[in-house]
Amino acid sequence: MAEDFYDTLGISREASDSEIKSAYRKLAMKYHPDRNQGDSAAEQKFKDVSQAYEILKDPKKRQTYDQFGHAAFEQGGGGAGGFGQQGFGGFSDIFEDIFGAFGEGGQRESRGDDLRYDVTIDLEEAFTGKSLEVTIPKMINCPEQHSYKSCSTCQGYGKVRTQSGFFSMERTCGRCGGTGQEMKGRCSKCSNTGRIKQNKKIQIKIPAGVETGNRIRMSGEGEAGERGGSYGDLYVFININNHKLFQRERDNIICDVAIPFTTATLGGNIEVPTIEKKMVNVSIPKGMQSGHKLRIKGKGMSILRTNTRGDMIVKVHAETPVNLSSDQEKLLNQFNETLTKKNSKMTEGFFDKVKKMFN
Ligand SMILES: [Zn+2]
Ligand SMILES: [Zn+2]
Repeated sequence: MAEDFYDTLGISREASDSEIKSAYRKLAMKYHPDRNQGDSAAEQKFKDVSQAYEILKDPKKRQTYDQFGHAAFEQGGGGAGGFGQQGFGGFSDIFEDIFGAFGEGGQRESRGDDLRYDVTIDLEEAFTGKSLEVTIPKMINCPEQHSYKSCSTCQGYGKVRTQSGFFSMERTCGRCGGTGQEMKGRCSKCSNTGRIKQNKKIQIKIPAGVETGNRIRMSGEGEAGERGGSYGDLYVFININNHKLFQRERDNIICDVAIPFTTATLGGNIEVPTIEKKMVNVSIPKGMQSGHKLRIKGKGMSILRTNTRGDMIVKVHAETPVNLSSDQEKLLNQFNETLTKKNSKMTEGFFDKVKKMFN
């Protein structure tokens, strides 16, 4: 085993620090376990060059080595030997030394994905708010107890280096996801991913006053990250069904109401339904024009995160009667003959506009 360290790195005993460094760099890339998966000879070679570099990069250790050879380091280690696990423990430092800073998050666990869940509710439910329980299939942390050891690909470093031409690239170790740890043995539940798919019941609370397109963020209700990573969030997207009677305009509710043309003419009272399924009385003023609106204060939608409500807006349409009896026709004809310009609110304006158009 005790090959000369200079031979291991393929350099002369007079090699400068930078020559040592570049020799190591080349060899470390060549034999890195990430590039030689399952090749135990390469793995051993990788360890050897790392050990050699560990000693030769340090002027003091190098001097000692030059004087006393391997013996200098084998003595002090006791039993397992100075180069055993201990020597190799400095591995990440070497890498750091050679390739620069660690980069952030060497030990970071990956956070799980956010999830989206679409909920369609009725306008009445948007008015009152709604609680519902849904079942969402998602990844959760594996409930089994796992024990861990140092990652066999990156030796616990969490990152691997690859060389491409002049460029050295550092990336997160694929085996351990950057944690530097891998599971001991085989977990039959999660196949060592640290998470399993499960149907999870989730209580969703939709507040009163939501609108289509609103989303509710449920912190930590997303998917578990791999290898015990934290949970993402769940976003509940709200969609509201069209209502048969009501249209929503932000906080207001519009209701189109057809009334007899006589009521529109003479005035009167009508009843209209509200969103909370009550009837309210609305008084129609005399001479109400078709398409005009009446406002009922505070009978509209709930306003999100308040105790107040918008308004209800009643849009009145005067209905033209059909299937008249001859008596009714006679009455209407009589009535028609009595009409004068004074009875019209709009005709004059309309014909004025027509006149202008042809001038
Ligand atoms: Zn790893
Ligand atoms: Zn497991």
